[in-house]
Amino acid sequence: MTLTLHGAEPRYAAGLQQVGDGVWAWLQPNGDWGEANAGVIRGSGASAVVDTLWDRRLAREMLTAAAPHLEGAPIKLAINTHSDGDHFWGNAELPDGIEIVTSDASLRAMQAEAGPVELGRMGGMSRRVSALPGPLRGMTSYVGAMLAPFDFSDVILRFPTRTFSGTREEEIGGRALRLIEVGPAHTPGDLVVHVPDAGVVFAADVLFVDSTPVIWAGPVENWIAALDTLLGLGADTFVGGHGPVTDHAGVQALRDYWTWLRDIVAREHAVGRSPMDAARIATRDAEFARYRNWVRPERMLISITTIHRALSGKGPIGHSPVVRGRLFADVAQLGRELDAER
Ligand SMILES: [Zn+2]
Repeated sequence: MTLTLHGAEPRYAAGLQQVGDGVWAWLQPNGDWGEANAGVIRGSGASAVVDTLWDRRLAREMLTAAAPHLEGAPIKLAINTHSDGDHFWGNAELPDGIEIVTSDASLRAMQAEAGPVELGRMGGMSRRVSALPGPLRGMTSYVGAMLAPFDFSDVILRFPTRTFSGTREEEIGGRALRLIEVGPAHTPGDLVVHVPDAGVVFAADVLFVDSTPVIWAGPVENWIAALDTLLGLGADTFVGGHGPVTDHAGVQALRDYWTWLRDIVAREHAVGRSPMDAARIATRDAEFARYRNWVRPERMLISITTIHRALSGKGPIGHSPVVRGRLFADVAQLGRELDAER
């Protein structure tokens, strides 16, 4: 059995999975950190790719697997669903000169956020200082493990060539693609790709399946509205950014998670509890049984922090290494507490 990138037993099949006529999902079980999905849509004489994964090796692997299905229909268009590296840092492997489309807000975030050099440095540093004591060690070993399966050394950022806001119709080899901007939610500019003639939606990181979602941008109400948009598209098949292919039930499960978590954070924020205390209370709530086996349940602390900040009138979590370091120290701590209870 081939293990996942993070060395776990796969919970579902990796690789190319046909999800409609001339439409494939590329799946990286189990939807853990950086184990992102992508998509391929073949039209008549031309094809499109949705997202390109976190490094060049992973992007090449996906494009090589798709190539036999795309004979006579070369890739002419790519879509980047949002600004997280695990969805667009493989762009350099795309054919030269093609159009790459994303939302205005995603392009701005891609250009502003930490690049492969910073992340590569962070991964190396995390491995070097893993001998440190206490919470710092917890954080560095957690972040080190998060980045370890990926190789950023030869990543060259290739940004989208065309942007939009709202909705946009694209066409690939005679097939219509509907791009719908639903962010800010997971990130500032999330978009989903609806392939109406196949009843398929590439929902990217607006949809985590059996994998704990992370809300970095918010507000959470936008994410819930985005899931309602997905449910209203008349599609039957949904490919999330992390996790297996799903149907309406998978979208609804995530919607349930957000309303559950939102209500707990609102209640605990109102009595002055910290995000970490709210997280511990959430893990003792009866409904948590539904979500405990989703990949990385400790990621809930990031989402709780974002929602908690919004209730205090504050914006998203800052990008500084100190802020992120403290946050991930607590995420690692919550992960250890959850592991100890298993
Ligand atoms: Zn992602």
